[in-house]
Amino acid sequence: MSFKVLIANRGEIALRAIRACKELNISTVSVYSEGDKDLKHLKFSDETVCIGPPSPLESYLNTPVILSAAELTQVNAIYPGYGFLAEDSNFAEMCEKSGFKFIGPTSETIKNMGDKITAKTLAEEAGIQIVPGYKEDIPDDEEEFKKIAKDIGYPIMIKATAGGGGRGMRVVEHEDDLISHAEITMQEAKNAFGNEKIYLEKFIANPRHIEVQIVGDGKGHAIHLGTRDCSMQRRHQKIIEEAPARNINKDSLNKTYEACVNLCKKIKYEGVGTIEFLYENDEFYFIEMNTRIQVEHPVTEMITGFDLVKAQLRIALNMNISLNQNDIKFSGHSMECRINAEDPETFQPSPGKITKMHTPGGFGIRYDSHIYGGYTVPPYYDSLLAKIITQANSRDSSIKRMISALDEFFIEGIKTNHSLHQKILHDDTFLKNKHTINYLENEFLKNGS
Ligand code: ADP
Repeated sequence: MSFKVLIANRGEIALRAIRACKELNISTVSVYSEGDKDLKHLKFSDETVCIGPPSPLESYLNTPVILSAAELTQVNAIYPGYGFLAEDSNFAEMCEKSGFKFIGPTSETIKNMGDKITAKTLAEEAGIQIVPGYKEDIPDDEEEFKKIAKDIGYPIMIKATAGGGGRGMRVVEHEDDLISHAEITMQEAKNAFGNEKIYLEKFIANPRHIEVQIVGDGKGHAIHLGTRDCSMQRRHQKIIEEAPARNINKDSLNKTYEACVNLCKKIKYEGVGTIEFLYENDEFYFIEMNTRIQVEHPVTEMITGFDLVKAQLRIALNMNISLNQNDIKFSGHSMECRINAEDPETFQPSPGKITKMHTPGGFGIRYDSHIYGGYTVPPYYDSLLAKIITQANSRDSSIKRMISALDEFFIEGIKTNHSLHQKILHDDTFLKNKHTINYLENEFLKNGS
């Protein structure tokens, strides 16, 4: 049987999806906004459909228009990528109802995992360690509420159950601020997510961000593909990611792997997913599960040789795939630098025309990007321009390879965070792998490194 897939995304992940489809002899339909007609992947797509004005709400988030394009081009399935509609359970449900296969888990799974309290409960039931906290309804009585917070122990974090993308979270250092902070978070959550429900978590002061990649066949079988360390972040946005995470307690890791696979088996997880943890004092604490491909998926692919995007397509389209834990072998170390169109000091977005550029290459270097010389970066979307990925025998060699790749790389015409990466790659704390999620913002950038 021949398949046709609509790619409901843009930029590098749309190109990544097309490459995977081509290898599997799947035809592609790419949708694009009026602001994106010069995107590279449109040239490689079998068909293209313009879906509306540049504003994401009118194009890449516009469910009826995307479903109409799917109907018009008679595709079998829709590939959501990351961002936009990738974790929108309503969209997945509409795909299911319209007879298009949503490439990812079921709408029910997306919904459950998108609700942070339900996700925590399911994770805990599967044996995953969660951040200590309180996930029942917040009592009306202020004294009772204060007692709950005190029992968890300050500092605590107030989180919106429908939160996402680093929004809907607030740290409370002292009891005096509890009520006001809870009220503000509820109001913000109501405005941003249409759901004001909040819960409490112990604030883990200085953890690393470690995540586990999983793959499930949707029928109750699942495997893991190891860890990634994404601790180098600013405002909860990852900047450098690596696989595997180094210096992790073996017992905790094995328990965590087992529990992650157990969760995916229990919920009959379909497709690829990431279970994210804060890691401190040798312990993993679940924070959330992302029910989609991640930006940083290449580092896992580089150390396992397992193509995660092809796996998504194969599983969704019932093509042959072997998911055998014993077949997964880990080799060496991989690192990814996210090159963003932004000022390296102020982090202000820097859209505009790329007048000239040169991309890196060579042994152990992978370059995933949709940009090219003469391309104009539009101002409407996220600022990711390119992912430079290296693979080598050790972490040190992977870093050296990245330094050399970055030396070859240049972009002219717009500002990028290229120089920030170069500085981080020479930083002693990073080289020693001693950085936590707070390091970049609280130490590195403050010290003017
Ligand atoms: P989102 O869905 O918005 O990405 P997460 O729950 O994944 O929210 O949290 C995003 C980031 O917030 C984490 O990577 C971590 O940096 C920080 N964070 C979340 N929960 C806690 C916590 N309990 N203690 C300390 N930091 C936290």
